[in-house]
Amino acid sequence: MNIAIMGAMVEEITPLLERFGEYKTVEIANNKFYTLKYKNIDVTVAYSKIGKVNAALTASILINRFGAEKLLFSGVAGAIRDDLHIGDLIAAEALVQHDLDITVFGHPYGFVPESKVLIKADTKLLKAAQETAKALNLTLKSGIIATGDQFICDGAKKEWIRKTFEADAIEMEGAGVAFVCDALNIPFFILRAISDAADAHAGFDFDEFLQSSSKISADFIISMLDKLEKQI
Ligand code: SAH
Repeated sequence: MNIAIMGAMVEEITPLLERFGEYKTVEIANNKFYTLKYKNIDVTVAYSKIGKVNAALTASILINRFGAEKLLFSGVAGAIRDDLHIGDLIAAEALVQHDLDITVFGHPYGFVPESKVLIKADTKLLKAAQETAKALNLTLKSGIIATGDQFICDGAKKEWIRKTFEADAIEMEGAGVAFVCDALNIPFFILRAISDAADAHAGFDFDEFLQSSSKISADFIISMLDKLEKQI
């Protein structure tokens, strides 16, 4: 089994690499990919850098160059839903690009022809995640994650995204990964721990909670690997 684990920022993958301990480093396309063996799983870890384009590039490389058969994303996000607090975990059931807008031609927000608004995450991985959460006595919330090339730190913008897409959390990479995996038929799972509430305080909260929330997400991903390893 070959599994890729991706983050967007170095802070998001550092707790993973610290837990894994030993790895090799390969450089491709101005980025570093860390390869290692975890139990009987071949793992490649990488952070894409921020944004949908970087995320799509890294996901493609993880699949096409490193042979990833499943992709797990670990990182942080802003909360949209009111019951999501800093440090809470949310898994994407589906993802949407909130900044994709050709509505002047009569299309809905997030849609371009021959594509779809929502990309669904893999139900088997979502099930494995819920079982992992249960075993750890943790709550794993799930819902729609909205992705765009903007850091949302404004109540009105957040409300618009909530209303338009029924989104529960907001970040800048998930849908990029989702579209690549969907097109290439690779099951994927996007996990985020909340770092801020996408409001006027978001910039400060993000800086304060990036590390702790990244670790919460990374620790969960490793527990999930333990679960997936037993299913192989
Ligand atoms: N402080 C960083 C920039 C962080 S951008 C720097 O200066 O380099 C925010 C990152 O966290 C993105 O990778 C995004 O996926 C996620 N994120 C967390 N909260 C977010 C929010 N409120 N809006 C959008 N993305 C958010």
